[in-house]
Amino acid sequence: MRFEDQRRLLVQELRQQGIRDEAVLAAFSKVPRELYVLPQYKDYAYRNRPLPIGQEQTISQPLMVAIMLEHLELKPEDLVLEIGTGSGYECALLAEIAGEVCSVERLEELSLTAQGVLKEAGYKNIYFRIGDGAQGWLKAYPPHKEFDKIIVSAGARQIPTRLQEQLKLGGILVVPVGTCAYQILTKVIRTENGYSVSEHGACAFVPLISK
Ligand code: SAH
Repeated sequence: MRFEDQRRLLVQELRQQGIRDEAVLAAFSKVPRELYVLPQYKDYAYRNRPLPIGQEQTISQPLMVAIMLEHLELKPEDLVLEIGTGSGYECALLAEIAGEVCSVERLEELSLTAQGVLKEAGYKNIYFRIGDGAQGWLKAYPPHKEFDKIIVSAGARQIPTRLQEQLKLGGILVVPVGTCAYQILTKVIRTENGYSVSEHGACAFVPLISK
């Protein structure tokens, strides 16, 4: 089956699994996942499952990415920080929906590969940093100190303090929190008085490696 047809079926599956945000579904209809997987996995690109991307990391399961993006309540003008560029797939989905994306990856080789694919795809609204994303953006350009939305696509032991501090008022952070084996998808909203935290089911991500 052609990749376009497989992509359409994947979007149908996401709808059936309960994804309702039309902007999220439109982004999944647009971004070719086959560009972000290793050549030997292209035939599996539209299975609703994670796949290895090298260096013991994975491109996340499409349904999990869709759930996280839906929790972010993305708007076209949003400034988004992504921790864990990985393959660049989720980064492309974010760049389709939001205004600007800053993406941090600790493994240089993965970041450079993803940067290549995303540039080739023509995205002009993505900025990259190689380093520990748990510390936040920390780059002189673009000089952002706070974000509308922050998404962490690796499992953290606890809510990363530095990241919640980099949320704008009303901003949303989505992060898997727990052990190496499994985590709870956690949503943090910055409020006038601090932070409001809610939990949204179990998930399993590669660990967030940080000091
Ligand atoms: N969003 C990615 C998912 C990649 S898996 C995708 O769509 O493919 C999670 C990624 O987080 C891995 O590439 C891993 O190297 C990275 N990672 C782990 N700890 C990190 C940290 N402290 N800072 C930045 N990236 C980190």
